[in-house]
Amino acid sequence: MNGIRQQQYLKEIGITVWQERKFAHKEEKDVKKISSFDAKSISKDNGIPRTELDKELNNLSRQVEICNLCELHKFRTNTVFGIGNRNADWLVIGEAPGADEDLKGEPFVGRAGKLLNSMLLSVGLQRKDVFIANILKCRPPENRDPKPEEVTACEKYLRQQIELINPKIILALGRIASQNLLKSTTPIGKMRGNSYQYLGSDLPVVVTYHPAYLLRSPTEKRKVWEDLKFAKNIFRELV
Ligand code: URA
Repeated sequence: MNGIRQQQYLKEIGITVWQERKFAHKEEKDVKKISSFDAKSISKDNGIPRTELDKELNNLSRQVEICNLCELHKFRTNTVFGIGNRNADWLVIGEAPGADEDLKGEPFVGRAGKLLNSMLLSVGLQRKDVFIANILKCRPPENRDPKPEEVTACEKYLRQQIELINPKIILALGRIASQNLLKSTTPIGKMRGNSYQYLGSDLPVVVTYHPAYLLRSPTEKRKVWEDLKFAKNIFRELV
């Protein structure tokens, strides 16, 4: 991405000055920390032909559509399976659909979604290039936090999505996504700035704040940009 476009996107996410900061050192340190990852073992090629992959993801999406494993199925207008490039290197994982997403059946279509698009663009990623999914496929009433039993019921769908899409990196948005993906209770502020491994695999997970939180706390946008640059550095090390 050229500098002007990048400046434009940074402005959109509320960062007007391009400045390498102290965090850059942390990035280098942490990239080294995970350099023991075997990049070759994080192969994009999961051996599934494209048509077979589409078939399997379509089947999974249909299972989600008729799922009644938790009470959320009673309240939904639509399930929200996920959207994007089914061959994506980047898998972005949020919490759960909100009202707009429930109506449209697509993740991150409301205000938080617009901000997510800008966040991605700030590091040269277009929405269509990544795959976006959530921990939960149905909207919790009044957008309350997911209950543990709902997360457990929905987990198998996300796991299969991860297996099929076989991304090179996961970006977890917000506390709910980060803690549930990593089976951790550490506050997100403390998790930031490190790379984790998904369920003991080689698949790196980087956490950052949720765009909905940024809408409430715009001064945190710079931290998200730092997290995204950190994730981008890790990704570069892998490819
Ligand atoms: N927030 C999320 O975590 N996911 C969505 O899809 C929308 C808002």
